[in-house]
Amino acid sequence: MDISDLSDWLIVIAPLVLLVLWVGYKFRKSTASGPPGFSADYFKGLNYLLNDEQGKALDIFVRLVENNWEIVDTHFALGKIFRKNGEIDKAIKIHQGLIARPSLPEQYRSTVLLELAYDYLGAGWFDRAEGLFKEVLVYDKKSLEARHNLILIYQQEKDWHKAIDIASDLYHDEPQKMGPMVSQYYCELAEIAKAKGDVAQVEHNAHQAFRFDPDSVRASILLAQEAINRKDYNAAISHYQKIEHQDAEFLPVVLSSLVDCYDRLNTSDDLLKYLDELELRNGNLLLMNLHASVLGRYKGESASVDYLSKVLKRQPSLQVMQELAAYKSRIQDDRDIDFLHDLQTALQAMRKDSTEYGCQRCGFGSNTLYWQCPSCHSWATIKPVVVNSL
Ligand SMILES: [Zn+2]
Repeated sequence: MDISDLSDWLIVIAPLVLLVLWVGYKFRKSTASGPPGFSADYFKGLNYLLNDEQGKALDIFVRLVENNWEIVDTHFALGKIFRKNGEIDKAIKIHQGLIARPSLPEQYRSTVLLELAYDYLGAGWFDRAEGLFKEVLVYDKKSLEARHNLILIYQQEKDWHKAIDIASDLYHDEPQKMGPMVSQYYCELAEIAKAKGDVAQVEHNAHQAFRFDPDSVRASILLAQEAINRKDYNAAISHYQKIEHQDAEFLPVVLSSLVDCYDRLNTSDDLLKYLDELELRNGNLLLMNLHASVLGRYKGESASVDYLSKVLKRQPSLQVMQELAAYKSRIQDDRDIDFLHDLQTALQAMRKDSTEYGCQRCGFGSNTLYWQCPSCHSWATIKPVVVNSL
């Protein structure tokens, strides 16, 4: 055994040995007048542990608890250490050993079941973990730990109906936390219905989503898309416009679809008026690109140049400068074109490669809008990112 092997061994074994010594201490204290002979077993177990024969050591320690359930906390701690070290099989052995003891006192049953369920989760056996979390609820109907873990399992398995059942039950106690989650589950059901072309179910689930979270941007988008499918552009516009009041940071996600709806209705004056007002309320750089392009389309590109020049004075940024150079290079007809083209290329290079969307909770970046962050699993925390403002 070289030095690094020795230090690895110490890191793994030291906490176990300390724990077992403590078990021994507690055991000795509480069974001072108990049956003789326990210490021989105890030292045998310790010896196995030190010789790295943990399987045999566990057999002994699980048996030792039989005479004194007060030391069961140390078994839980031992199980946690094994689980943390990735030795799930050993953690499972401890907890299964405890659950199999006919003398297991009722007051410890839920905890043993929960610990074993965490072992199964760690091993990736979701169905077994689910079974145990449900069993916990048989003994302790209100167990928050079991219910929250079941929700995580159902989310993982995309079993939205089961997730809704449990989460809507928790909603009454924790509306702030659970409302947006239940709402997202209904949106997931709406997306499934949408893929099947089941319009009634899309609308039903979107409205359920609003019941649990009136500010569900995702439900507004689903309803707007349904309205577009049936060519009701006025309805689509009002669904999209609602998003400004639900969570304005999501507006850039829907603006081009919103502009399309105005285009379909041939109401460019209304659109330009809406964009002006929107910009007064939300000076977001992501709105400005689109505003410039709408102006260019309806009033000519010199209108875009005038608009961007004003924006640049008010809110200097590389992004606006680059847009402005692009418009100018298209409408200039003299030698400035080469200069503007070079300027635009240089500005493009100065803008670092950047992601379009970012998670506001964990910083995960992406070019796709995910409603649930793939990194931290939070809902609706991934939003459009404003890049490179100076
Ligand atoms: Zn995240």
